[in-house]
Amino acid sequence: MATFWQKCQHFIKKYPLIVLLVIVVGAATGVTTALANYQMITVRASVLNVRQGPGLSYNVMAQVQSGQKYTILSSRNDWYQIRLDNNRIGWVASWLVDNTEVSQATNKVGIVTSEEANIRQTAATDAGIVATAKAGEKVTILYQAGGWSQVLVNDSVGWMRNDTLRTTNETATTVQSNGGDASQVSQASIKTVTTKQTAYLRNATDDNAAIVASLSANTTLTYLDTSGQWYHVQTKDGKKGYVPSWLVSLSANDQPAKTAPTKLSEATIMLDPGHGGSDSGAIANDGKSYEKTYTLATAKLVAAQLRAAGAKVIMTRTSDSFVDLSPRAKLSNADGVDAYISFHFDSSPSPNQASGFTAYYYSTSKDIRLAKTLSASLGNVLPLTNKGVEFGNFQVLRDNTQPSILLELGYINNDKDFSDIRSTAYQQKIANGVTQGLLNYFQ
Ligand SMILES: [Zn+2]
Repeated sequence: MATFWQKCQHFIKKYPLIVLLVIVVGAATGVTTALANYQMITVRASVLNVRQGPGLSYNVMAQVQSGQKYTILSSRNDWYQIRLDNNRIGWVASWLVDNTEVSQATNKVGIVTSEEANIRQTAATDAGIVATAKAGEKVTILYQAGGWSQVLVNDSVGWMRNDTLRTTNETATTVQSNGGDASQVSQASIKTVTTKQTAYLRNATDDNAAIVASLSANTTLTYLDTSGQWYHVQTKDGKKGYVPSWLVSLSANDQPAKTAPTKLSEATIMLDPGHGGSDSGAIANDGKSYEKTYTLATAKLVAAQLRAAGAKVIMTRTSDSFVDLSPRAKLSNADGVDAYISFHFDSSPSPNQASGFTAYYYSTSKDIRLAKTLSASLGNVLPLTNKGVEFGNFQVLRDNTQPSILLELGYINNDKDFSDIRSTAYQQKIANGVTQGLLNYFQ
């Protein structure tokens, strides 16, 4: 027996235009539609990490199991923001879940009316403050109960007293249809505290309570809530406890706490086959074999293997077409990829002068670890000499905001190197080395 909900979903799938029309007419006339509010996801991975922000660089806050269903609040960079329960909101990788599209959001927009309104963790006047909102600021109302509204503001979810805001007839657009532009959603806001001096993390709000960890000065912790004169916080390695508020400072900018990424299967990898179309790249000694052909063939094998490992792969080109350098880096920045790898084959001024492969980085802070990790893993599998890691002033790296490297995987105008470069066996070894390197990198 189908439930009303299942019937709705069936109806929407069967008659999407009618549903759209109802929404459009409803919105135009200011009538509240009686349709279901949300998109749902069903977890596909056996265990799925829920993170504090839309990307691998954010802390894991929870794990959910295969088959569980959650409401989508918003989406960004291919990540879905989901509601775990009334007070916990997190982000999951969209490619690890199934999306059951239901309809557009019908959440109402609220406007803050008091000078400065506290947004609290629970619907209670003594609950911890998650954020504050100023008069005139817009919030998305998720629920209303008992004189309180649960609201979404700048990706923070919390509770506001109803007398601090006015409900409008405007419909919030935080829930996106599939393929919709989710870029309006602003940066996730997680408060952090930073220690001003060495301090102890304790298991209760008491100077004599057991010590959970000892913290050096300038340690950044995720703020959870306030308890009297103490802050309830979490360390980067997941330990929770209390620190005295007078020994730390609470972040003003609400930037999310970032940690190292953990799993390749959650990562988005951009592969950039060098050259293409009218830009043939370097040419082999036979005068008719082009670098662009082998960069594409190699990147396609790498893509297949990374996808098999669960990663999301984006390619800057998939055919023999010309793509300029500037859009390649822009694509990486816009997608906020977790790693960007550009594939090339080298050329020396005269034939058979040089041999071997090199991993290039531009930034020592964001690129060099990726370069070193992949240089090592490729060194384990490739038959050519590993020339190590080098600084490279390449535009695709220089313009890239994401961790990015450029691989020169042998000299195309060296006959010995070229006999490898042209073989699928060698290209497959590159795919093995890159995949193993990324598995190591995302640990
Ligand atoms: Zn090249």
